[in-house]
Amino acid sequence: MRRITLFGATGSVGQSAIDLIARDLSHYDVVALTGGRNVTRLAADAVRLGADLAVTCYPECYEELKRLLAGSGIEAAAGSDAIAEAAARPVDWALSAIVGVAGLVPGLVALQHGTTLALANKESLVTAGPLLLGTAKAHGATVLPVDSEHSAVFQALVGEDIAAVERVIITASGGAFRDWPVEKLATATLAQASSHPNWDMGQRITIDSASMFNKAMELIETKEFFHVPPSMIEVLIHRESLIHAMVGFNDGALMAHVGPPDMRHAIGYALHWPQRKSLPVARLDLAKIGALTFEAPDAARYPALALATRVMEEGALSGAVFNAAKERALDAFIAAEIGFLDMSRVVSATLDKMSSNGLQNAQVTLDNVIETDRLARIHAGEAISQLG
Ligand code: NAD
Ligand code: MG
Repeated sequence: MRRITLFGATGSVGQSAIDLIARDLSHYDVVALTGGRNVTRLAADAVRLGADLAVTCYPECYEELKRLLAGSGIEAAAGSDAIAEAAARPVDWALSAIVGVAGLVPGLVALQHGTTLALANKESLVTAGPLLLGTAKAHGATVLPVDSEHSAVFQALVGEDIAAVERVIITASGGAFRDWPVEKLATATLAQASSHPNWDMGQRITIDSASMFNKAMELIETKEFFHVPPSMIEVLIHRESLIHAMVGFNDGALMAHVGPPDMRHAIGYALHWPQRKSLPVARLDLAKIGALTFEAPDAARYPALALATRVMEEGALSGAVFNAAKERALDAFIAAEIGFLDMSRVVSATLDKMSSNGLQNAQVTLDNVIETDRLARIHAGEAISQLG
């Protein structure tokens, strides 16, 4: 029996993980599930999976969660301290699928306890890559990528020497606006940005796909996870979303990972790693698909990509600034306070403002990350009010 915990169990990635685990329950001892406002879903899954503990991050949802779990023998808890406490409970494997920088602390606590961490929460790597991977190393814990592109790179590297790698290519669908005239992007609405051509995901990451902020985060994630220099990492527009990443070696070979756009593949790979087990995902009929297409990304359409290059080169706490400003700008776009293209303007202005105070040289400690996140949100807020 493998003991497991799922952080962000009620989200898009969390629910895909539950789909896999529920098919094979006799193999798992589910210790804790965490979620947010959807306590009905959280409680129902905790009962279905036989969890010991269910935690909502919102204290105001505690009474409702407790009521839903009454008589089940499952413990209820609420708040971010309770999530960190859940992360300290001994398990073999935990899924980090909280959205946003809130995923960082539970991931760190799990790693401090030697737990294998399947990481979907890209914000942890973007804001605090050296801290997260340093914590894993110090405690002999493993981090496995769950973001589909990084899982693909990880799989292409099995048995390979990283020193023989020349380039890492992550693919992007191009998002909701890939065929819009660039001049029209400024008018994009929330509803238009919230639909993805190929993947079914949470709302925030779907909007980040339309703006390519998601791919920008993934560039930084690639640099942090695989320790490759920014000059070796590329983005390629691939509309079909069937090749998730490619690794180029010094003998000219390109190893491409091809699979259906279904997060259950990457989650299942991390769940069963280092083995492969049969997964309930579609098998591709390439003859039917016929052709795969590739295009270079247009820098004018996707200004977020140049911002990612800047962050990778600056290093240290620039990732924390980038992520916080991006989250704040995304909130403002969702609240209709700023336009679609203003998001990259806000992030750029925040990076400018904060890179003047020696960020590049600061240590990536948890305290510094939290403080940088706080300051970057304030500066991003100022940039938003200047635009609004
Ligand atoms: P989602 O919005 O569908 O779910 C987020 C989960 O986090 C929910 O369980 C929610 O209750 C919880 N949560 C939200 N705020 C929280 C907080 N402050 N504290 C604790 N818990 C909180 O998001 P998602 O699409 O499943 O994405 C989760 C993470 O995985 C993100 O980092 C995302 O970038 C990454 N990711 C997602 C996909 C995808 O296909 N959806 C693919 C790759 C990577
Ligand atoms: Mg991805």
